[in-house]
Amino acid sequence: MTAAAVTALRPETAAPLGRGRRSMQLSREQIRAYFERRHPGQRIPLRKKVPVRCAFHSEDNPSCTLFLDGNGGFNRHACGAKGNLFQFEARFSSCSLD
Ligand SMILES: [Zn+2]
Repeated sequence: MTAAAVTALRPETAAPLGRGRRSMQLSREQIRAYFERRHPGQRIPLRKKVPVRCAFHSEDNPSCTLFLDGNGGFNRHACGAKGNLFQFEARFSSCSLD
């Protein structure tokens, strides 16, 4: 998967993410754009840490922290799930990391 594919979020055109490429460097803007698409209606500012409402269950108050550096990250305090952007996507789309 190219960085552009991550930003554009077009899984039908994205090549599988091969082993050994999981540490590809994403820009903070790419991470921000990705997470904003995965949290419709929530604005994700270009900051290192951003509180959001969980993408995996409905809630009124933000219980999840997104991290817009490194490989991106999320920490869902209410459910206890956490990981990087790719682990988020694997869970969101019910697919494997590959
Ligand atoms: Zn949750």
